[in-house]
Amino acid sequence: MSNISQLCVILGDQLSADISSLKMANKQECLVLLAELQDEASYVKHHKKKIVLVLSAMRHFAQTLQAQGWQVRYVTLDDPQNTHNFTDEVARAVAEVKVDEVLVTQAGEYRLQQQIDSWQSSLGCTVRCLQDDRFFASIDDFAHWADGRKQLRMEYFYRTMRQKHNILMEAEHPVGGQWNYDHDNRKPPDKSVPIPPPLRFAPDQITSEVISLVASRFADHFGDIDPFFMAVTSEQAEQVLQHFITERLVNFGQYQDAMLTDEPFMFHAHIGFYLNCGLLSPVEAVRQAERAYMEAGAPLNAVEGFIRQILGWREYVRGLYWYHMPDYKSLNFLSATHDLPAFFWNGNTDMHCLSQSIGQTQKYAYAHHIQRLMVIGNFALLTGLSPEQVNEWYLIVYADAYEWVELPNVSGMVLYADGGIMASKPYAAGGSYIDRMSDYCRSCRYKVKLKTGDDACPFNYLYWYFLDKNSELLANNPRMGMMYRTWAKMSDDRKYEIRNSANKFLRNMS
Ligand SMILES: Cc1cc2nc3c(=O)[nH]c(=O)nc-3n(C[C@H](O)[C@H](O)[C@H](O)COP(=O)(O)OP(=O)(O)OC[C@H]3O[C@@H](n4cnc5c(N)ncnc54)[C@H](O)[C@@H]3O)c2cc1C
Ligand code: SF4
Repeated sequence: MSNISQLCVILGDQLSADISSLKMANKQECLVLLAELQDEASYVKHHKKKIVLVLSAMRHFAQTLQAQGWQVRYVTLDDPQNTHNFTDEVARAVAEVKVDEVLVTQAGEYRLQQQIDSWQSSLGCTVRCLQDDRFFASIDDFAHWADGRKQLRMEYFYRTMRQKHNILMEAEHPVGGQWNYDHDNRKPPDKSVPIPPPLRFAPDQITSEVISLVASRFADHFGDIDPFFMAVTSEQAEQVLQHFITERLVNFGQYQDAMLTDEPFMFHAHIGFYLNCGLLSPVEAVRQAERAYMEAGAPLNAVEGFIRQILGWREYVRGLYWYHMPDYKSLNFLSATHDLPAFFWNGNTDMHCLSQSIGQTQKYAYAHHIQRLMVIGNFALLTGLSPEQVNEWYLIVYADAYEWVELPNVSGMVLYADGGIMASKPYAAGGSYIDRMSDYCRSCRYKVKLKTGDDACPFNYLYWYFLDKNSELLANNPRMGMMYRTWAKMSDDRKYEIRNSANKFLRNMS
């Protein structure tokens, strides 16, 4: 290794052939470092499936790099020399190989970036930390957009991004004349529309070895490994995207919010895992969807809805995260302190919507957006669960969970813990929303039409209890005015029944 002068550090969510650090590296003089770290796999007890996905994808990525002529230092989880700490593994490589320069792409998560920022003074060589140019907007681009604005609403950021990147635009106007087709995208589920099953990949030898390793080493972590059928290479991830574009995109828009019993995947894309670890390019996903509209007649409401998720929401939450960290993590505007109920870890609850959403999370490390937001999230909001515990739960249970995307969705969108930085009002709802958008209520022990009492849907009384409890903080919100006026008009008896049912429920939950 005498000719080696550069060390290129690749993190577990940087598995992209065109990552900026690799682009800057000189192949002949560079050693690429990938390390499987116990610290990273267990700083929260990640779902076993997520660990399998990331480790298998790292091993496949290292193989691809080697086949392309890169020299790779790959530290496995069971290597006795492995320190299992990110900075220590980099320091060990620098000391052994004696490089002049370390190249790294900026980390997705704040805590890892802090470690990278300390390297220049601790490693004794030059450290170049490069922008992550896999996103449409850099962290500075977002800050530039956000500076001086009173409110940071996603919709306006999204429009700026559409214009800047010329996506679904006709000159300076949005195609079809509207920026947003959400009003076409709220249909309840229709059982007569067949749902194409997701693409499945049988585990190859590398994945099978990782499965055994994870089963023995992380046995106490949440979730099932079997069945494992996720993509673990960029080629497979691109097939998943292609499959979505040809099979499910057509119905993605209209049934985006719909939920059905024992149908975890619906018409969603199931690509968040791959976008977030680097196997799939967000730019490619957006461009392919745009082409499906321009060249293959895919419906505009579906294409625009899908593009908004990636070009809008995904970019926006990343920008918001970096704009407000580290303070964002400790925000608790509503002073919520309840512990997570035990059923969050096993789905054992009579509330059918929750047992479905949590049960499939356990099995697949996946739930779609409305299950995360309007079922599990809504419950966490209404019952006043502690933001710290809820954030940790969401970070643990989903295979696409990384703090930069998880935290704003949980503390901002779900819990209103940021006091309105992200959402203009809490996404609180009673049972009728879930009844309208799913078939869950039909087979639930609770009755969604009942408002109070032991048989009533808990969301119904918890909704009013939440408004009542937080009235000092929320009653002046102009978007909540109507609900508070309705509450004010209720009789004292009615209010008493609501408070009584809610208190009983919360006592039992504890
Ligand atoms: C409480 C809560 C926690 C969440 N935690 C995560 C998380 O840890 N990681 C994560 O990637 N997404 C998270 N999301 C956003 C969203 O639920 C998932 O991205 C989506 O369900 C992933 O499934 P999919 O690939 O089938 O997405 P689709 O519905 O098919 O959407 C396509 C893509 O759009 C992007 N997207 C959609 N909505 C959002 C959003 N609100 N924020 C950011 N990107 C979005 C994702 O990259 C997603 O893969 C969370 C949402 C909520 C309400
Ligand atoms: S009745 Fe209430 S608890 Fe039961 S599935 Fe419907 S919304 Fe969920």
